[in-house]
Amino acid sequence: METKVYFVGAGPGDPGLITKKGKRLLNEADVIIYAGSLVNPSLVEGLKAELYNSAKMSLEEIIEVITEAVFQGKTVVRLHSGDPAFYGAIHEQIVELKARGIAYKVIPGVTSASAGAASLGLEFTVPEVSQTVIFTRLGGKTPGPSSEDLIYFARKDVTLVIFLSINRAREIEQALLKKLAPDTPIALVYKASWPEEQIIRGKLKDLSHLVKEAGFKKTALIYVGEALEAAIKHMNKRSKLYRDSRLSENFG
Ligand code: SAH
Repeated sequence: METKVYFVGAGPGDPGLITKKGKRLLNEADVIIYAGSLVNPSLVEGLKAELYNSAKMSLEEIIEVITEAVFQGKTVVRLHSGDPAFYGAIHEQIVELKARGIAYKVIPGVTSASAGAASLGLEFTVPEVSQTVIFTRLGGKTPGPSSEDLIYFARKDVTLVIFLSINRAREIEQALLKKLAPDTPIALVYKASWPEEQIIRGKLKDLSHLVKEAGFKKTALIYVGEALEAAIKHMNKRSKLYRDSRLSENFG
């Protein structure tokens, strides 16, 4: 069956950060259902497609719009913020589409986690500092990790990127302090890649204070780990990648 439904990553906000493929699909789509709260509206302005803002729709309504459009032979783009693979809630939509025999494809995007790292000049995986990245959140309306789980994930040699939890900075701070040093570097990135982007750097012990002072309530990420320090201070840690091309490991 010909694919008619595309889950497209819109990128973190800056309209220049959608893929060419995503942009082409937006131009060609007959119906676009976009995540109104985080997708830059300029991406869907002036297109021929019929537009739906999913912020005001239930899952059932979204599936109904998609099913109806596919039935009429139309092409649908379901536009998600960042990369749909990160907290995109695409799984529950895919289950419904599969149940109806509707073919779909996912077009990846630049996640806000990468956009924030770019603004911080951060490599998540600094040699001998951190070779592991954990993307996580605290459970909320959607059940998920607890503070106990955060303590379990936290390690000196891990970079943590915490989504959807900026309003629970106090809990995060208290949990992580059980495992990490108080002066572990942290950063907050609010609205990465948008004109109103803000970056705050600090220490773990000041996390909740910094969030409160900045007044961030949503659309922000918390980064934790020694790799953050490496992004601002030369740590004399090199990968083996550029040392000797004959010996180099096959990394990008
Ligand atoms: N799929 C998206 C994430 C959706 S969940 C992605 O890949 O980025 C929504 C959460 O993502 C927000 O609570 C916030 O933690 C984070 N987020 C999304 N866009 C952001 C941005 N531009 N800057 C900082 N955080 C962002």
